[in-house]
Amino acid sequence: MLTVKDLTKEQVEGKRVYVRVDFNVPQKDGVIRDNNRIRAALKTINDLVEKGARVILMSHLGKIKWKEPDAAKIEAMKKANNMAPVAAALQELVPDVKVHFCPETRGEKLKAAVDALKNGEILLVQNTRYEKGEEKNDPELAKEWASLADVFVMDAFGSAHRAHASTVGVPSILKAEGKLVAEGYLMIKEVDNLTRCVEVADGDRPYVAILGGLKVSDKIKVIDTLLRKCDKIIIGGAMAYTFKLAKGDKIGNSFLDADSLDYARKCLEMAGDKLVLPVDSVVTDSFEPVEGRIVKIVDDIPEGFEGVDIGPKTQELYKREIAKAKMIFWNGPMGVFEQPEFQAGTKAVCEAIKDLEGKAFTVCGGGDSASAVKQFGFKESFSHVSTGGGASLEMIENDGSLPGVDVLK
Ligand code: AMP
Repeated sequence: MLTVKDLTKEQVEGKRVYVRVDFNVPQKDGVIRDNNRIRAALKTINDLVEKGARVILMSHLGKIKWKEPDAAKIEAMKKANNMAPVAAALQELVPDVKVHFCPETRGEKLKAAVDALKNGEILLVQNTRYEKGEEKNDPELAKEWASLADVFVMDAFGSAHRAHASTVGVPSILKAEGKLVAEGYLMIKEVDNLTRCVEVADGDRPYVAILGGLKVSDKIKVIDTLLRKCDKIIIGGAMAYTFKLAKGDKIGNSFLDADSLDYARKCLEMAGDKLVLPVDSVVTDSFEPVEGRIVKIVDDIPEGFEGVDIGPKTQELYKREIAKAKMIFWNGPMGVFEQPEFQAGTKAVCEAIKDLEGKAFTVCGGGDSASAVKQFGFKESFSHVSTGGGASLEMIENDGSLPGVDVLK
């Protein structure tokens, strides 16, 4: 696969290079809470700028629910996900490079903005999801965007599991026209690290997966794949209670994914002791952090209480399993880590992984667990923390294949 590193100055100087980035940053009312995703794309952007390319950046931001019948509500969603503040944030990060912003996603204004772009300058285009056809990979839309580009670079790992117009439609057209399509630096790093979790070399065993989060149903495919690939799967978070009920344990009022109970039963039968479940839990009588709520540690969860974190015995059990690993893939928090009282389980997993530094290859697969890892200050202890929650899960599920990667091959 061609990479941005391989693109020579001669190949890109003065050329319109369309870079699909993932600038889907957490923001509200134009205030960006975390510019990590913008910083993650800088290596690719700077490389192209230095080679004299005319850099066109495309990304989605937030969600626009096109099924909404009220046009005023759609306009409000667009306003809430305007890309203009992201252009300003990018400009701050590259003060020596001119960053232009085009508030439109199609038409003459966009074409004129691209035509006016000088070598070594950047144009950030409005949110790709302003177009209804983006998520449907509309061929007309892809054709229009492809007509703006001479070269395509994919650096949006967080969107690589989506076959949208901006991620798959455009490179398909450009490739068919014989134009260059390449991977950016962030993509190279993500794909290399996650491929290791998919291919599983002998030296990477024991391979231990840690899965948590809310719903079993969201993770069925990844559980199936990991059952084939891993030596142990440690389950935490709300997900664990569906498995515990399937096993016959009491779960009180814990979150239950009832539709996945049969699956959980079959899974337990098949997996045997490969699947490790919590032996105790932190429980509460009120999910909301109201004064006077009861929080306690129990083995069996009584009625009126719900499990919100793994308990201390489980932490020790999981630490022992993690300590044996040569490779770790982690997705999903062990408890309601957003509330300080229920962070201990997720922190214990972070600490156990920190203890593996230099001894094992450890990957956090993005999403909420990556937020927790960063929040608790453990990012540097991991071999890799992915920027794409959905994409890293799908890459594992699909044995290393992703639409936004496959199209570049
Ligand atoms: P997911 O998106 O599936 O990774 O789920 C992450 C969410 O699961 C976070 O918001 C956690 O607060 C939540 N979560 C984790 N453990 C529990 C639990 N025991 N009960 C309810 N929610 C949980």
